[in-house]
Amino acid sequence: MVISSVSGRAARDACPGALQVHAAADGALARVRVPGGALTTDALRELAACAGELGNGVIELTSRANVQVRGLADPAAFAARMAAAGLLPSATHERVRNIVASPLSGRSATGVLDVRPLVAALDAGLCERPALADLPGRFLFALDDGTGDVLGLGADVTLAAHSVGHPVGHPGGHPGGDLTLLLAGEPVSSVTADAAVAVALAAAETFQSIRGDAWRVAELPDGPARIAERLPRSAPVAPAAADPRKGGVFPQVDGRVAVDVIVPLGRLTTAQAGLLADLTPAEVRLTPWRTVMLPDLVPEAAGPVTAALAGAGLVTDTASPYARLSACTGRPGCAKALADVQADALRWAESGTPGLPGLPELREQPGGPVHWAGCERRCGRPRGRVTDVVATPGGYRVSH
Ligand code: SF4
Repeated sequence: MVISSVSGRAARDACPGALQVHAAADGALARVRVPGGALTTDALRELAACAGELGNGVIELTSRANVQVRGLADPAAFAARMAAAGLLPSATHERVRNIVASPLSGRSATGVLDVRPLVAALDAGLCERPALADLPGRFLFALDDGTGDVLGLGADVTLAAHSVGHPVGHPGGHPGGDLTLLLAGEPVSSVTADAAVAVALAAAETFQSIRGDAWRVAELPDGPARIAERLPRSAPVAPAAADPRKGGVFPQVDGRVAVDVIVPLGRLTTAQAGLLADLTPAEVRLTPWRTVMLPDLVPEAAGPVTAALAGAGLVTDTASPYARLSACTGRPGCAKALADVQADALRWAESGTPGLPGLPELREQPGGPVHWAGCERRCGRPRGRVTDVVATPGGYRVSH
């Protein structure tokens, strides 16, 4: 393949999928896309079974509400079981089904539009277009229901609802509602709900036709303007971003509640995954902040569910250090790592890690995200203001 003379970037996109796995230092790694973060309890149980029988026994949650399993001895068997579970509907498009959505859309009063039907329509439309099979695996769609919670992700194509309505096909009423189209976070036009998916797909097709070796819209000079000029235009309404709240109990419009579960370092054991499947009626919603939402619980269940989660090492307390904590893969999964950052980060969350300068105090202070990394690349670092704890040959370095 051609190597760009400008960026030096390999044109081949090595983003892992369920079929194109990544050869990590601890074995084959497969990533499974979960559009909108929606996983049925049956699919979650099968994922857990596969992680236990074929992988290292852990389901990793990603910052795009996808999942990955490491240490796979038989990647082909894993892919076959994912396909049988309905998690691999397109072999050609599996790595480009990157669609995040407001996790409580259609359930929470904070949104103005139920975007779940739009997620399904966008996923189907994406898989139907042969040209979009070659989108970069990093390309991201986001559907915000008006809450503003996924706006901060800087998706390549975002549809953000700003007026009330139901998408086409919704059993409850007339199509309606308007959404703002954002490209690389920049508002470029307004679209109706019934036109929104077609416009999002057209934006992706336009990017694909002009991208050269760019992987993201933001990497393309004047990318948002060059794509927008080829789409229908109307004045955009600038949406307001909101910080997502991690952990706790959320009311639903139907009187039920959802419990948001903080998973330490986004690593779910098979036993924890089985428990989550047992605690919720039909599905879980993975969030881009690597928590798992358990929706549709009767309010009286919130207390017992929270207690069961705590007993399994899962967290719902928003004040927990785990609500702020993330870490890259580190040793032994990454050959570049200078430390086992996940083990060190967990020790810090539990005890403050005496002996590491500056770190005990950091744990006691309220504040923003704390990201641990095994080298300067700082993979998986959250966006925005972050305290970095980076491994160096001489120990960890803390910077704000
Ligand atoms: S930050 Fe460095 S050590 Fe951590 S996963 Fe990335 S490359 Fe590996």
